[in-house]
Amino acid sequence: MAVLLIAEHNNSTLKVYTLNAITAASEIDKEVHVLVAGNKCENVVKEVAAVSLVKKVLHSESSDYENFLAENLSPLIVKLAERYTHIISSANTFGKNFMPRVAALLDTSQISDIIKIESSDTFVRPIYAGNALVTVKSNDKKKCITIRPTSFDPAPSSGESASEKLKKGTLVEKVEPVAVPNISKFIKREETKSERPELGTARIVIAGGRGLQSKENFKLINDIADKLNAAVGASRAAVDAGYISNDHQVGQTGKVVVPDLYIAVGISGAIQHLAGMKESKVIVAINKDGEAPIFSIADYSLEADLFKALPEFLEELNKLNTIQK
Ligand SMILES: Cc1cc2nc3c(=O)[nH]c(=O)nc-3n(C[C@H](O)[C@H](O)[C@H](O)COP(=O)(O)OP(=O)(O)OC[C@H]3O[C@@H](n4cnc5c(N)ncnc54)[C@H](O)[C@@H]3O)c2cc1C
Repeated sequence: MAVLLIAEHNNSTLKVYTLNAITAASEIDKEVHVLVAGNKCENVVKEVAAVSLVKKVLHSESSDYENFLAENLSPLIVKLAERYTHIISSANTFGKNFMPRVAALLDTSQISDIIKIESSDTFVRPIYAGNALVTVKSNDKKKCITIRPTSFDPAPSSGESASEKLKKGTLVEKVEPVAVPNISKFIKREETKSERPELGTARIVIAGGRGLQSKENFKLINDIADKLNAAVGASRAAVDAGYISNDHQVGQTGKVVVPDLYIAVGISGAIQHLAGMKESKVIVAINKDGEAPIFSIADYSLEADLFKALPEFLEELNKLNTIQK
């Protein structure tokens, strides 16, 4: 048997988290097959074929798959599942969308957000907002698994161009689309466009909390983000107060980030926030309360008023920029 990984893409390019999921899949079984389902997504097929850990690409073309509706993708995945022991995707909005439906249709229990693979049936996943890790053994014949992408390195490309690899016989199998149930319809997509790096994959994240006090004050965070080429994150309190949109939320009910540097400003450090950032390599916290829980996990703690500290920080960054120029 082999493992089936569902590729996340936008019909023209592969989303980076698929590469992390490929690494995880290859730790379960070396026979990794990747499903690329979409509309006019040949380029994605080539990208996936170029990844050395991928043994086969299953390519299914249909306008029904263009917007990745869970209701449309699930029948295809369920049909293909006959040939596989594990169905895998990343534990982000893409995987969280269709995997529960696939698991229900296969009458199996989904194993979500795994961070480590002990063996082909035993996995480690965080519970209680990341405060405990549980090791789960699944006896289900088919295992539907979502992977926390930041816990696995992205799979390297084989170094050969996809067309060379294809010539050498990396198999691309055409898969006929499966009839869709027509129970949902795609209306429109609204995406936030940003010049800044994507929050989930940025090397540097600067995040603001309720301490910022207003939407306007988030400019202090944005200015530093621009200088550092960082993504902007936020606590749920900042999002709920309307200082910033919810696609910036970090934490248990937001995004999980593991940047090289995470700067938390005016964030107290509630466990639900820590669940989304505590694996960051270096954590800097700026808070005026010396007892704030965020300081207990920070590598560098600055007990200061953010309205004084951030302008000073920006000034230093500007000086550095001038020297570099
Ligand atoms: C089911 C559930 C899920 C949740 N999911 C999430 C989640 O995904 N992400 C998340 O973040 N939260 C989440 N929460 C909410 C979480 O419990 C906290 O309420 C939230 O994280 C608090 O945000 P905060 O740190 O910005 O605000 P606060 O806790 O109010 O902290 C504000 C901090 O700013 C500091 N401060 C104030 N003024 C200044 C100043 N001038 N200079 C410096 N520091 C200053 C204060 O000392 C304080 O430490 C969730 C809660 C529940 C129940």
